[in-house]
Amino acid sequence: MEKTGSKANKFKIGDRVGIGWIYSACGRCKFCLEGNENLCESFKATGRDANGGYAEYTTVLEDFAYKIPDVFSDSEAAPLLCAGAIGYRSLRLTGIKDGQNLGLTGFGASAHLVLKMTTHKYPNSKVFVFARSEKERDFAKELGAVWAGATEEESPEKLDCVIDTTPAWKPIVEALKNLKSGGRLVINAIRKEDVDKEYLLKIDYPVHLWLEKEIKSVANVAKRDVSEFLELAAEIAIKPEVQKFGLEEANKALVELKERKIRGAKVLRID
Ligand SMILES: [Zn+2]
Repeated sequence: MEKTGSKANKFKIGDRVGIGWIYSACGRCKFCLEGNENLCESFKATGRDANGGYAEYTTVLEDFAYKIPDVFSDSEAAPLLCAGAIGYRSLRLTGIKDGQNLGLTGFGASAHLVLKMTTHKYPNSKVFVFARSEKERDFAKELGAVWAGATEEESPEKLDCVIDTTPAWKPIVEALKNLKSGGRLVINAIRKEDVDKEYLLKIDYPVHLWLEKEIKSVANVAKRDVSEFLELAAEIAIKPEVQKFGLEEANKALVELKERKIRGAKVLRID
């Protein structure tokens, strides 16, 4: 924090703060008033609707800045402000209570974080992981999943909720059959690919939807997701694996993302 506005009093000069994907919202609409600024019609995203994503300095309303816990370095904090906070929101939207069964279909960076959050926040809940590769399934069990199987497998117990973090449709259809009555599937994906869209035709109403099963998507993050998640991450000491790039290597980092050369979260540093 280099400078504050005349009426700002949440932070003082010298504080280490971060900005999430949510840059601002109107503060007056129904969604803002209920704490779902992510659904506000005036939702602005950092770096997309407001300058600041690739900048050395930026300005932001104090309500949309968050104090970074001391346990994290600058680079470690960056991915927590986006992917981590969205993972936290998806877990919150499942409505899970301690002792209930959670399924995770897809086991990438975001799902790892959700598994760690779940075992910490809901110690009596069991986590079941559906993943394509043996390596991911082994890793899930290492991190505390009670069971790990392939996408289309039937879980040994029915699930209260499932979070999907895949870009495909098959995992959604296959997850629905494992839900209990009244169970909820939360889709944490910005978009789905069209490649396996015909899989949706396999939806069999009595098997996949009957008995009040729900499907809900996750869009962006609200303020409380970022602040609550930072606190939780510091408590669990979640340390994301990061790979640093200079600003001049930004294009290289983007190409690697496109080619799915992913080893932890990519962070751009401006020194
Ligand atoms: Zn609003």
